[in-house]
Amino acid sequence: NDEELRCIGCGSVLQDTDPKEAGYLPSSALKKALNDEGSDVYCQRCFRLRHYNEIMPVSENNDDFLALLNSIADKKALVVNVVDLFDFSNSLISSLKRFIGGNEYILVGNKVDLFPKNSKETKIKDWMRQEANRNGLKPEKIFLVSAAKKKNLDELINFIAKKGKKKDIYFVGTTNVGKSTLINAILSERSDLKDLITTSKFPGTTLDEIKIPLDNGHYLIDTPGILSKKQLASHLTGKELEVVEPKKPLKPATYQLLPGQTIFLAGLGRFDYIDGPSAGFTLYVARDLYVHRTKTENADQFYEKHKKDLLLPPSEKDDLGLLKGQTFSPDVKSDILFGGVGFITTPANVVVKAYTPDAIGLGIRRALI
Ligand code: GDP
Repeated sequence: NDEELRCIGCGSVLQDTDPKEAGYLPSSALKKALNDEGSDVYCQRCFRLRHYNEIMPVSENNDDFLALLNSIADKKALVVNVVDLFDFSNSLISSLKRFIGGNEYILVGNKVDLFPKNSKETKIKDWMRQEANRNGLKPEKIFLVSAAKKKNLDELINFIAKKGKKKDIYFVGTTNVGKSTLINAILSERSDLKDLITTSKFPGTTLDEIKIPLDNGHYLIDTPGILSKKQLASHLTGKELEVVEPKKPLKPATYQLLPGQTIFLAGLGRFDYIDGPSAGFTLYVARDLYVHRTKTENADQFYEKHKKDLLLPPSEKDDLGLLKGQTFSPDVKSDILFGGVGFITTPANVVVKAYTPDAIGLGIRRALI
C-alpha cells in the first residue's frame, strides 16, 4: 500500500511486528515516521549498526540472511565458522553445508579457556570433528581458541592470513559464541594484520554484513549472529546468563551417587542415576549455579515446590519448555552434555537419565578427561 515505508539503510519495508525480521522498528517510532512524511528513517538494525557499530542477530530462517549465505557459494571465500565449545552442537549451523559450495571451511571452537586445565586438546578436536561430520560439515581444519583470553590466536591468524590471501573471509556463527570478541581480538592482536585494515568497521549498504576492507582488495566479513532456538543463550536474560555461563575454568566437583539419586542443575538440568554401583560422578558447571542432590522418588515434588526459588533460572518468562529427559547407557566413561550449562562425567556401564528444558542441548561424548 501507499503507507509502505522503507528503511533508507537496507531498503526493507518497515514493520513493527517482529523484532527478529528485517525492517523492524518499535511501534512508537514507526508511527512517528508515518506521520512525519519525507523523513529519513532507519530500521532498528541499521540504526544500531550506524550508531553503535553493533550488528543485530537475525533468526535462523531469515530470508536476507539465507540470501547472504547463499551468495558465499558463488564466491571465492574462506568460511570461518565460530562455535561455542560449551554449547557446541547447538551452535553448529547445519544449514551451512548447503552454502559453503566448493569453498574452504574451518571450524573455530571458542571459549577453550573454560575447559578444565587437564583436558586434552586432541580429544576435544576429535569430538568436534565427529559432531561436525554428523551434521554434514567437513571442516578442513579445527582450531581451539579463547577470544577473551587471547589464547591460540596466532595459529588461527596465520592460517587465515595464508589461506585468505586471494579470498574474502566470512565469519559466521550463532549468537553468543564470541564471534565479535574473536574478530576484535584478531584485529587488535597482530599489527601486520592490523596494517591490512584501511578503515575501521563500517556498515556496508546492505544490513547483513559488516565488511572490513583488507588492503589486498579483499574483505573480512562479519555476518550477523543467528539466533538458534536450541541455544539456552537465546532464551535466558543477561542476568541469568551471568549465573549460568562459566567465567573461569570449570572446577570438577565429584558426587558419590547411588542408583535412585538425582541432581538438579538449578532448573536447567536434572540428572537421575538409574542403574549401576555406587559411583563417582563429576560435575563441571559454573561455580554460581545452584546444585541440589535429592532422592529420585522426591525429585518431581522438589522441582514443583522450588522451581520459582531455589531452582531459578529459568524463570517463567524465559519461554523454555518443561524438563524432558533422555536415557543414556554408556559403555565407556562419558560426558553427559547439558548444552550451555556444562557436563557430568559418568563411569562406564551405568544407566542415567538427563533432562533439560525441551531436551535442548542434551548430548553425550567420550569423556575428555
Ligand atoms: P557473539 O554474539 O558471537 O558476537 O558473542 P560475543 O563476542 O558478544 O560474546 C558472547 C559472550 O561470550 C560474552 O559474554 C563474552 O564475554 C563471552 N566470550 C567471548 N569469547 C569468550 C572466550 O574466549 N572465553 C569465555 N570464557 N567467554 C567468552
